Amino acid sequence: MGQRHANRIILPNFFDYDDEHEHVEMSARLAIRESWSSAQLDAFAQSCARVRLKDRRPVCYTDDAAGASDMSFSTHTMAKPLILVTNDDGIRAPSLEALASALEAVGEVHVYAPDRQQSAVGHCVSLHRPLRVTPLGGREQWFMVDGTPTDCVMLAVRNLLGRRPDLVVSGINPGANLGDDVTYSGTVAGAYEGMLLGIASFAISSVNYVPNYLETAGRFATKLARHILEHGLPPDTVLNVNVPDVPYDELSGVAITRMGRRDYKDEIVRRLDPRGGMYYWIGGAEPSHIVESGTDFEAIEHNRISVTPLHRDLTNHAALPRLAEQPIAL
Ligand SMILES: [Mg+2]
Repeated sequence: MGQRHANRIILPNFFDYDDEHEHVEMSARLAIRESWSSAQLDAFAQSCARVRLKDRRPVCYTDDAAGASDMSFSTHTMAKPLILVTNDDGIRAPSLEALASALEAVGEVHVYAPDRQQSAVGHCVSLHRPLRVTPLGGREQWFMVDGTPTDCVMLAVRNLLGRRPDLVVSGINPGANLGDDVTYSGTVAGAYEGMLLGIASFAISSVNYVPNYLETAGRFATKLARHILEHGLPPDTVLNVNVPDVPYDELSGVAITRMGRRDYKDEIVRRLDPRGGMYYWIGGAEPSHIVESGTDFEAIEHNRISVTPLHRDLTNHAALPRLAEQPIAL
């Protein structure tokens, strides 16, 4: 009944179930003793089946000690995956609602989001003032924080959630976070903070500032969430996802990409305020980008979802030998 691997068995079709969106195949990873026979595996599978049929929860398992000693398995259902959701556009952004409601098909969603617009705050953390956390009226497990996306993730994971999330998802940002945008983005920073805390994390953006198809990004977020919960992510890696603003069926695919480079056209506007004081406002035309193959920009140009793995280590390793050859004197 079960296909045996080095330290687990996978029970095909064992935890299949239908949710609102699609047929989902879940496989259970079960810790077992290498000495178990096929008969023992089958007995264990039967034991799990009763649990599964009782309440349709997706996974059951046994701990090694109880299972291997006398076959009186301590099977029980695991809690649904805990998914922490944040954004940088504020807790009332429709794009946050779209993401959170989509992810409810995957796990137990808890939202901790800024109480106001926090776009382009980058990886800012509030160290010099207290932070207030307020439940959002009428929404269970939704909380607004008078801080940044990084504050939200840090407070939730280190203190408020009660258990460690299985996944951190930040978005859906209305507007692309491509190339150098990631260094400014509060959306990416929310996921980056999750990565720093050792939790699988991704940021997701729709490339249109006024998205027409948030459900496209939401639907891909559920697919990616399931994929990550099943396969994990490489260490010290956070995913930056950008989604074309088109109907889901019109997407051309998914591309794993590298960061491209922006060509910003920022202009500083200088004016006088009503009392004669000078003020400055960063403005300018929409940024363009440098055309290069394999980049996140190229994926979007070809109507593909871009998935860029960002690494925690920002060191330019290729520059180390050259800099070492030209020692910097004290
Ligand atoms: Mg934003």
